[in-house]
Amino acid sequence: MLQQTQVKTVIPYFNNFLERFPDIETLAGATPDEVMSFWSGLGYYARARNLLKTAIICQQEYASDLPQTPELLASLPGIGKSTANAIYSQAHDRPAVVLDGNVKRVLARYVAIEGWPGKSSVHQQLWREAKALLPVNRGADYTQAVMDLGATVCTRTKPACEQCPVSANCQAYAGNSVERFPARRPKLKKTSQSFRVLILTDGKGGVMLERRPPAGIWGGLWSLPADEPGKPAHKQLGLELDKLTVLPDLQHQLTHIDMTIQPLITDSEFAPGRVECTSGQRWFTRQQWPELGLPKPVRQLLETYLESVEK
Ligand code: SF4
Repeated sequence: MLQQTQVKTVIPYFNNFLERFPDIETLAGATPDEVMSFWSGLGYYARARNLLKTAIICQQEYASDLPQTPELLASLPGIGKSTANAIYSQAHDRPAVVLDGNVKRVLARYVAIEGWPGKSSVHQQLWREAKALLPVNRGADYTQAVMDLGATVCTRTKPACEQCPVSANCQAYAGNSVERFPARRPKLKKTSQSFRVLILTDGKGGVMLERRPPAGIWGGLWSLPADEPGKPAHKQLGLELDKLTVLPDLQHQLTHIDMTIQPLITDSEFAPGRVECTSGQRWFTRQQWPELGLPKPVRQLLETYLESVEK
C-alpha cells in the first residue's frame, strides 16, 4: 500500500484491510471483487491484484507462509528486489540493500550522487553505494534506521541536518548543496482523456456496470459502460434511446492523465431483464454496488446521482 502512497493516506486502508484479511490464508480465499472493494480509492489497483495473486501462491506453494530467501520473495507478483530485501532483512535480521524513495534521497545526499534516481544508471550507482555501506550486524535495525532517517530527518524539504546523526560524513551537507540532491524527475508529459459514460438504473438504485479489461486504467475494476469510438455505450448494449441527459462533467487527475468524464443518464428506468448483459456486464442492486471495487470517480458519480434521485 505504501508504494507511491503516503503513510497518512494508507493508515485507514491498512487497518480495514488487516481487519478483514488478517492472514495469508484469509486473503487467498477472498474474491478479487472483495479485495478491490477494500482498495477502492487508494489507486494503483495493480498492487491489490498482485497482493491477492501473491497470497494464493504463498498458500499453495509455501504452506501459507512467505518464502525465506530474497530471490524467492522477489519472484512473487508485485514484489521487486528492494521490497524483497526489506522483508528479508526485517524478518531474518540480515543486511540487505533496500532502496525505497526515502533511502534513495538519503544516499543521494550522503554520497552526493548526481542525476535523477529513476534513471537506470543513477539507480545502479545508488544500489552499489547502498551495498558498500551495509553493516555486518544488526541488519534489521539498519534497514529500519535508514528508512526512518529519510522519513523523519532527511526529508524532501527542509531536512534537519543539524540533528542528523550522519551529518559529519554527508557530502551534500559538507558542500552546502543539500537542495541539489537528489535531482528532480524530468517533467512528465501529461495527456488529456475525455470519455462519456452511461448511468443505467432500474429506478430502485440498482445500476448496470461493466468490468474493465485487466490491463490499463482501472484494470479489472467495475465501471460504468463507456462510449467507444463510433459506438455509444447504449448502442453497445443494444438499446435505442431517444433522450439522454448530460450531467455536469467530472474532472479526475491521474499521475499522467487529466481525465474528463461526461456522464449521461436516461429518463427511462430499466428492468434488468430488458437489457442484454454480455459476460463483462452485470446489474448490481443498491446494496451490492457500494461494496464493489469501483474507481473513485465512478463511485462519486453514482453516489451523487443516486442521492439526488432518492431525495
Ligand atoms: Fe540528509 Fe542533512 Fe543528514 Fe545529509 S546531513 S543525510 S542531507 S539530513
